[in-house]
Amino acid sequence: MATEVSIVRSYSYSYDEVYGSVRRSIELLGGMERFVKKGDKVLLKPNLLSAKSPERAITTHPVVVKAVGNLVRETGGIPFIGDSPAIGNWGYLTRKTGMEEVAKEIGAELVPFSESVRMRNDNDDIFKYIEIAKVVQDADVVINLPKIKTHTQMLLTLSVKNLFGCVVGKRKPQLHMEVGRDREYFARMLVEIYKAIMPSLTIVDGIIGIEGNGPGAGGTLKEIGLIIGGRDCIAIDVIICKILGVKKENLYTTTAAIKMGIGETDMERIKILGEDIEGVRVKGFMTPAIKDVEFGPRFLRRYIKDLFTSRPIEEKERCNLCRLCMEICPPQVIKVIDGKLSFNYDKCIRCYCCIEVCPEGAMGVKETFMSRLTHQRLY
Ligand code: SF4
Ligand code: SF4
Repeated sequence: MATEVSIVRSYSYSYDEVYGSVRRSIELLGGMERFVKKGDKVLLKPNLLSAKSPERAITTHPVVVKAVGNLVRETGGIPFIGDSPAIGNWGYLTRKTGMEEVAKEIGAELVPFSESVRMRNDNDDIFKYIEIAKVVQDADVVINLPKIKTHTQMLLTLSVKNLFGCVVGKRKPQLHMEVGRDREYFARMLVEIYKAIMPSLTIVDGIIGIEGNGPGAGGTLKEIGLIIGGRDCIAIDVIICKILGVKKENLYTTTAAIKMGIGETDMERIKILGEDIEGVRVKGFMTPAIKDVEFGPRFLRRYIKDLFTSRPIEEKERCNLCRLCMEICPPQVIKVIDGKLSFNYDKCIRCYCCIEVCPEGAMGVKETFMSRLTHQRLY
């Protein structure tokens, strides 16, 4: 049977419109009954990157979570909402992002991920164990609710990357540290996490996304006007790349999935339901200002990468020295010296977690001399 991905228009966050679009998206895939049975405990996993209001588009819009939650209820399932931001207060985060209100409206519990379980991976996987939140493993059904956003490290954060949120809190920067500055290795880990979780259903909030230097406050809002659904996150991400005009091979997680033989990446074998891709393509979508290279002898690559890979920098006029970037930085290479941030670039692993968490959009990226010199365009 062909892998199916549904594409449905939704131009605003009015509840009636979103409910209609999400419902249609799921009906095209066979209806909620195909994914949820009466009495199932259903985890709704939105992207709750940071405590920002829904209009900032940094988090999955609460109206999308509400629509999916109500459809779960109508099918007899018991929805609950969970995530695990790397830093920040869960109560404040759920209030600010609108999740607290939605949880009340749909009668869902809010569950911060805290306890981890180790899951054994297949023998041929790089990571022999994957640690994910126990509540994710205990849920009868996982519904993945990502947002379309750019990502300074991984190019885009879509269906596969959203599941990194199922790794409990501070383990996330630790994993960044273990994986180091190798994006391909990190992507492989993300795909292995996806493989371990295998959500039953994914509904992507693609109504208003983030372009430019996302996924946090450094990005720019982009109207896309879509709800995209399916089971296979790899296929969904391939379709979103096509809609945004990004080559699927440039999305690290897709390349990793191709190598690992996971999911469907061949457009010919993905059946599109609903809107035609050509009719919904987004013009001029801005990808982040990152550049990476992969050439030269293996033992020199790390040093070559340093020369060519963009660095995080502070935009002083916006920085209020809240120190969240310092807290999350895996190798702890950010310090405050004379009232401004200072980076040890020799030890920086270019994970860009600092950009991701900065609430003021005060972190940018600076091209290196060598990358400017070559004018290399990868995306
Ligand atoms: S760069 Fe951002 S996260 Fe870091 S201290 Fe400044 S405002 Fe806070
Ligand atoms: S400075 Fe930023 S990019 Fe560098 S390691 Fe720390 S968090 Fe990652």
